[in-house]
Order: sequence, then structure tokens, then C-alpha cells
Amino acid sequence: MPIPILMYHSINTEKNNVSLNIDNFRKQMFFLKKNNFQTINLNQINNKNSNKKNFIITFDDGYEDVYLNALPILKELNFSAICYFVTNFIGKYNFWDENKSNYKKMKLMNLTQIKSWIHEGMQVGAHTSNHIDLSNCEYNQKKNEIIEPIFFFKKNFSIDIENFSYPFGKFDSQTTNIVKDYYKTAVTTQRSRYKFNKFNFYNIPRVPINNSTNLLKFWFKIYTPYEDIKFR
Ligand SMILES: [Zn+2]
Repeated sequence: MPIPILMYHSINTEKNNVSLNIDNFRKQMFFLKKNNFQTINLNQINNKNSNKKNFIITFDDGYEDVYLNALPILKELNFSAICYFVTNFIGKYNFWDENKSNYKKMKLMNLTQIKSWIHEGMQVGAHTSNHIDLSNCEYNQKKNEIIEPIFFFKKNFSIDIENFSYPFGKFDSQTTNIVKDYYKTAVTTQRSRYKFNKFNFYNIPRVPINNSTNLLKFWFKIYTPYEDIKFR
């Protein structure tokens, strides 16, 4: 079956565009557990172990509430997830969205929390160093934004990161070419479940989940072509 790669941002009790309510998140995770889904990581998406029901959990931006609210649920259910961090904003706030009309200032994980995130068996990916629009900057800046997180995680945690997420879901062919040289996969904000042979590793679609996603809609997104037909 096609693999749903779930896209989350923040998990808390606030009402804003990037947050999902903790109770909804908990219900979704328990629903998947009850239906025998298992998490895999992005490097396994083309393993043809199709007897199993697999899915992937992704968090963009590295919000502190993911550490505080989502991690305990993931541990309880023995699920793993990947979080894409913006390395120059670690321990700070989501200032890149500051000029948006519905801006909500939110705290991002600090180094200690990321260390613990990794220690708990969770994965880490790159979301550039400054959360910029990669389709709209010069080659050198683009390249720096893409590769700096690799050095950052090597230096601070001695780990090699292999997975990338395009900020704002924006990229051009030059962006993709640089990403290809340094990472094994890149996720987008395009919508679909992942199908073997249909998508390349640098244009991986995801299934967005927000507060309007009730359990019935969640079921549709996981089990039916509901998301697949929204791919552009
Ligand atoms: Zn982002």
C-alpha cells in the first residue's frame, strides 16, 4: 500500500495555523497503532516489504512543543519520527514567519532537547540554516543554507544527517541539484501518499494534518486516494 508520510509542525493546545491539538495527535497515533501500522524511516521507503502497513511521521521547524507533547506519545507507542531543524534558530523562536498576518511566536527546541530527541531514537533532518525561500536566492546563499546543517549536526552531535525538507515547500531545479549532492532524500509540501516508482527521492510528497483533520478524514487520508488526487 502507498506510504503516508505525515506532515506535522507544532503539537499543542493553541489554535493557529501550524499547531495540531495534542488530543488529536494522540488519537491519530493510537488509531495507527490499533490498525497495526509501523513507522519506518525515509531511507526505507523503497523496501518492498509490502505485507506490512508502514507510515512516516515528520515534523517541520523543530518546535519545542513537539519535544514536550509529541515525544511522550511516540515513545509510549514505540513509534519513531523525524524532525527537520532550522539550525540558526535552535533554542530561539520561529521568526521567519514574523511578517505573516496570523503570526504566533513559538519556541523551538534547544540543543539539550535535540540531544534527548536523538537519544530517544528519533531522527533529525535539515530545514536550512535560516528557513529561507530556496527558489528565490543566489546560488552561494542557497548552497550555504543547504549544507550548513550537515556541519552543524556533525559538530554538535557527531551525527550524519541525510534527509532534507524544503522551507515553505519551495525549491527550483538548482536547489534540488545541490540537495542531491548532499542528502539522500528531500520532502516537499506537495500532497500524496508515497508510491514506489512514482516519485523520486528529492520530491517526496506528504500528507498534511491539521486541526480540521478529524479521525474520519484522517482515515480517508491514510487508506484512500484522497491525498493522491491532490498531487500537482
Ligand atoms: Zn518550515
